[in-house]
Amino acid sequence: MKIIYDKNKCMGCGLCSNLDPENFGYEEGKATLVNGTEKSAGIFEKAIEEAKEETKTAAEACPVMAIEIK
Ligand code: SF4
Repeated sequence: MKIIYDKNKCMGCGLCSNLDPENFGYEEGKATLVNGTEKSAGIFEKAIEEAKEETKTAAEACPVMAIEIK
């Protein structure tokens, strides 16, 4: 599985980093994907074994749907 984070969509509410600080950070008004790799402009991915509840909650809570778990 992987977490896909679209920094272009992020409006910096900070919810994801509060809900799942292991995977999401916050820097200069935008979320960051901890240990993520930038696959294309502003699109970050990170491989995960399986999605923890906190990660799913963060993805669901994001008001602009910038976080996907696939
Ligand atoms: S929850 Fe969404 S909009 Fe808010 S900081 Fe995280 S990625 Fe950005």
